[in-house]
Amino acid sequence: MAGTPAPQQQLEPRRGARHWLAAGALACVAAVATGPAVSREGVDVGGNSSFSKLVPAADVEKASTQQYADLLKKAAEQRALAPADHPQVVRLRAIAQRIVPLTYDWNPRAREWKWEVNLIGSKQINAFCMPGGKIAFYTGILDQLKLTDDEVAMVMGHEIAHALREHARERMGKNAATSIGANLLGQLLGAGAIGQQLIGGGAQLLTLSFSRENETDADLVGMELGARAGYDPRAGITLWKKMAAANKGAPPQWLSTHPSGTTRIAQMERNLPLVMPLYERSKKAG
Ligand SMILES: [Zn+2]
Repeated sequence: MAGTPAPQQQLEPRRGARHWLAAGALACVAAVATGPAVSREGVDVGGNSSFSKLVPAADVEKASTQQYADLLKKAAEQRALAPADHPQVVRLRAIAQRIVPLTYDWNPRAREWKWEVNLIGSKQINAFCMPGGKIAFYTGILDQLKLTDDEVAMVMGHEIAHALREHARERMGKNAATSIGANLLGQLLGAGAIGQQLIGGGAQLLTLSFSRENETDADLVGMELGARAGYDPRAGITLWKKMAAANKGAPPQWLSTHPSGTTRIAQMERNLPLVMPLYERSKKAG
């Protein structure tokens, strides 16, 4: 990030206590520059994976925009795309409106994203946010799980977190690194071409499943986003309990890419003390 090299140069000629102070100041600058993970309120998850850098964000977002548009078109053809005045669309967009401005701190690109929120008529218990802020909920998740606003915010926060933390981009970067060797590819094609090749090869962003680490990451970042937006982060736990209960009937689609488990709930419970103060403050502020 811009601004970090300057203090390093100033540091050179200094000695003793002043040097130590300057080093402290540099550490502060570095802490700010590495992103939201250090010395901040909320969950502690570190920066985005360096693997994501192997694929240009713009390429991933472009592919995502295309796939989202295709999905909406198909839904509209089947008369399954809810209109803007549908009460549940109004509700989803109101919740998104409170969460989205909080995303910019996590990923500066999010400010430029053309955020979209849509509702698709389907019994599937499913929801997603594709790279670039393309959100969709299926009526099944709202109706069958009877989600409260707090629980909707936790689902939305979780899905938005995947996009902000660039888990799809990371996954593609890892694929590039393991399948061919990033150095070789980088030399031969340049980073932009890697993205083109992966996306041209049909990376299906919709059915992508993430690692356990990515899931934990999305749970925690999602809880924090929701809490800051004034939604009760404890709803993350009731949500997963509802999801697990639904799993005893027809397994929710969502669970195929988001494996449930008691460890997941335990992890969220452990992190509640980090996000509850943010929720209380947001609620007080109205
Ligand atoms: Zn997830």
